Amino acid sequence: MSNSEKWQGSPESISYKPTKSLFLGLLAVAALGVAFIGFFFWYIPTVGLRSIHPALPYILGAVLIVISVLVLGGLIFITNAAMKGTLPFYSKWLHWLLVKVYLPIMVMAGGILRIPKIKIERTFIELNNQMVLLMGRKFKPERLLILMPHCIQFDNCKIKVTRNVKNCVGCGKCEIGELLSLSTEFGVNLFISTGGTVARRKVYEDRPHAVIAVACERDLTSGLQDAFPLPVLAIVNKRPRGYCMETGVAIEEVRQAIKDLIGAGR
Ligand code: SF4
Repeated sequence: MSNSEKWQGSPESISYKPTKSLFLGLLAVAALGVAFIGFFFWYIPTVGLRSIHPALPYILGAVLIVISVLVLGGLIFITNAAMKGTLPFYSKWLHWLLVKVYLPIMVMAGGILRIPKIKIERTFIELNNQMVLLMGRKFKPERLLILMPHCIQFDNCKIKVTRNVKNCVGCGKCEIGELLSLSTEFGVNLFISTGGTVARRKVYEDRPHAVIAVACERDLTSGLQDAFPLPVLAIVNKRPRGYCMETGVAIEEVRQAIKDLIGAGR
């Protein structure tokens, strides 16, 4: 194959980084949401509680205030860290808050503020990756799994890489050859998945200690939610031909993700 035929990698399909105003807007709506939900859960049962004991509404109010302060404090902490680009420390509780509370609120707030969902998802992915890196854990290469979507394969390639990625002959028409070289170099597992269900089954069967996942924002977001608390470094794919068709990935990003997780430095 001549150099001109060789696949040269794919350009970025979306150049977007979450901005401060986005984080602040989301936080403001999240704060309003927490205040409203807290008031709702306090006010509704108050009438019945008062008939049991006059002090009960105040006790429930105090409990809800503590919960609201904890949730809001966590959200402010996450937002502040996201705006600065670093988190000072890792906390599993904060990670849980991000995945289970902040994401749904961000999606809701994004709907109210008319922010495209893809921006919310990118923000979530970025925060998740920061959290995973901050865990500071070092994983054995053989316990890492790189999950790639099948759409990364060159469309006309007849080789069945979803059954066994080692079938790839590294012709250079897509990035699977380079990914295979990376997996061999570091001794990490590589799996090309035909879909989300197959990817989830692979994770369930292999029980990796950490995952590097490449996909579009929507698939990464739902995958991160499903996989929690498994540490997953998520890398957004490139889509020069649109979704699900000869997508790509920045090989250097995957290499760095492996190094980060095995503790090989930058
Ligand atoms: S690099 Fe591998 S998977 Fe990609 S087109 Fe060539 S042989 Fe097929």
